[in-house]
Amino acid sequence: MNSFAPIDTTPLVDTYGRQVTYLRISVTDRCDFRCTYCMAENMQFLPKRDVLSFEEIDTIASAFIARGVRKLRLTGGEPLVRRDIMQLVGNLSAHLKTGALEELTLTTNGSQLSRFAPQLAQHGVKRINVSLDTLDPARFAQITRRGDLTKVMEGIDAAQAAGLSVKINMVAMRGVNDAEIAPMLTWAHARGCGLTLIEAMPLGDVGMDRVEAHLPLTEVRDTLMQQFTLERLAKKTGGPARYFRVAETGGELGFITPMSHNFCESCNRVRLTCTGELFMCLGQDDNVNLREALRTSGVEGLNAALDRAMVLKPKGHDFIIDRAHTGPAVTRHMSVTGG
Ligand code: SAM
Ligand code: SF4
Repeated sequence: MNSFAPIDTTPLVDTYGRQVTYLRISVTDRCDFRCTYCMAENMQFLPKRDVLSFEEIDTIASAFIARGVRKLRLTGGEPLVRRDIMQLVGNLSAHLKTGALEELTLTTNGSQLSRFAPQLAQHGVKRINVSLDTLDPARFAQITRRGDLTKVMEGIDAAQAAGLSVKINMVAMRGVNDAEIAPMLTWAHARGCGLTLIEAMPLGDVGMDRVEAHLPLTEVRDTLMQQFTLERLAKKTGGPARYFRVAETGGELGFITPMSHNFCESCNRVRLTCTGELFMCLGQDDNVNLREALRTSGVEGLNAALDRAMVLKPKGHDFIIDRAHTGPAVTRHMSVTGG
């Protein structure tokens, strides 16, 4: 290990010519909710000793930023339940101040937002995603198994009061919340939030019938178009979402359709788990262990591991969900890889 080695600034480009500019970091696999589509009721969480320290996350994020990553998203598990999480947000925000990083953001279930929203804003976070699948308190308790809708609503209020732009993420499930999609759209847009609908992906064994609950968003879009005028937006994020402007509300509506579309041709992102494994695709198992590389060979080893990762980034995933494929496509839960 040579601590005087020059900083590696080689862009991270995979074998299909796609440049990685977006890193999602799962800061914990733990969560105060147990959403039915995400986790099993009795989750076994990873031992805390295996989890990356803030210093390690910072070193890894800095290596990515030096190599062209412009956007970081903190996720989990629930990022805001990790102890002293604002310390990490503060450290990472230093890259915003230098201009090396364009955006620092997070995806949260909102339960702790009323506590943290002002500090997030102070650290330069501008936009956040809040996951919310229903506006009905009883259904919310059922889906999350232990969440309190009032707290999440207070969190969204606090975020907006702190000046954060809030986008709502809603996982669409047949027979669970399909009747609430139009009301959610009206509610979200009325309070100045975008809405992104997500198809549930078969990640990890969660004990729910995914085939029964599978709701293709093409079907949802057709239903919404009977009530709303959807104008396609050119906006591309390098991710799976396709965006529309809803003429009647003026708000934005996104569709994330991993099940009905393979959206990988412009994929610009990779995902770091809280134990330091880097996954190049949500739907594939190939990974490199950055914690191991960093602990044994320092930043040079880390950069060599990033080069190996670029070779492993696959062209695409194939999630299949039908009666012949009822099991998870990969055994990792979404809370491990981060949403
Ligand atoms: N706890 C935070 C939250 O819920 O926003 C961040 C982590 S969560 C894993 C990130 C996103 O993944 C959430 O919007 C959640 O609804 C979504 N998600 C979880 N499991 C999923 C699955 N199996 N398929 C599709 N989306 C899923
Ligand atoms: Fe927790 Fe988010 Fe998974 Fe729900 S979706 S269990 S809030 S990590």
